[in-house]
Amino acid sequence: MSEQEPDRYARAARRDTPPPAPEPLVVPVLDSHTHLDVVGGDPAAQIEAAAAVGVDRLVQVGTDVESSQWAVRLARQHPGVVAAVGLHPNDAPRLSAPELDEALRVIEELAEDSRVRAVGETGLDTFRTGPEGRSAQEAAFRAQIAIAKRHGKALVIHDRDAHADILRVLDEEGAPPTVVMHCFSGDAEFARECGRRGFVLSFAGTVTFRNAPHLREAAAACPTDQMLVETDAPFLTPMPYRGRPNAPYLIPLTVRSLAQTKAVDLDQLCAAISATGERVFGPWRVP
Ligand SMILES: [Zn+2]
Repeated sequence: MSEQEPDRYARAARRDTPPPAPEPLVVPVLDSHTHLDVVGGDPAAQIEAAAAVGVDRLVQVGTDVESSQWAVRLARQHPGVVAAVGLHPNDAPRLSAPELDEALRVIEELAEDSRVRAVGETGLDTFRTGPEGRSAQEAAFRAQIAIAKRHGKALVIHDRDAHADILRVLDEEGAPPTVVMHCFSGDAEFARECGRRGFVLSFAGTVTFRNAPHLREAAAACPTDQMLVETDAPFLTPMPYRGRPNAPYLIPLTVRSLAQTKAVDLDQLCAAISATGERVFGPWRVP
């Protein structure tokens, strides 16, 4: 045993340890995109931990038929949860043509539920899907744009290395009235382009990463009333806990960083994001 080994074990153990709860927000805000099914454990405990720091609403996002059904069940059980249902652009191409048709049929059925407020995540990902899967990916994206429009739901877009193609497909199909660019990954120019189209940009923990100045420039360029914040938990944990498990209770870290980047008052930013969330996905609590 070398002397360095205990240190390495300690570091590895820290990687699996959930970060401590941040200081609570004064004005509540939402997590616009999370995957509590992937986070694991008891979702009710995660919802409670988030509410305790001022993250009192969240959007549970499906990526395939099973996780979309899970999202709807969770949203029916918790007044602070609404659901998005969809086929992820890296999952859709793995299905055979008849399987994809059947999956889209189920997604459309789920989209009718009153607790489902968005279709997605859908979109394009040329990072993980190779050329052989691109046409199925695009077909699934087009079909989900149509479902969002037919049911009057927001469209939640996953865009990885595909900015121009996302805009091309949306232009060809005609974008629904409400489009959310989840985990916004473009620069200031793309943020302005999306802003001109009325899209809402959702910023994740990546905006806090040291190697992402382009995301902070994008956030600075994004109008406050077209901005959302998300965890994409369990992924993309904000600084200073990058690499450790993410969950909705860590939203305060990202929203504080956004307020600093935009040089705006934290409470006012939370109020604006909250109002945008209600406009896009809400209301959570139906009277
Ligand atoms: Zn996601």
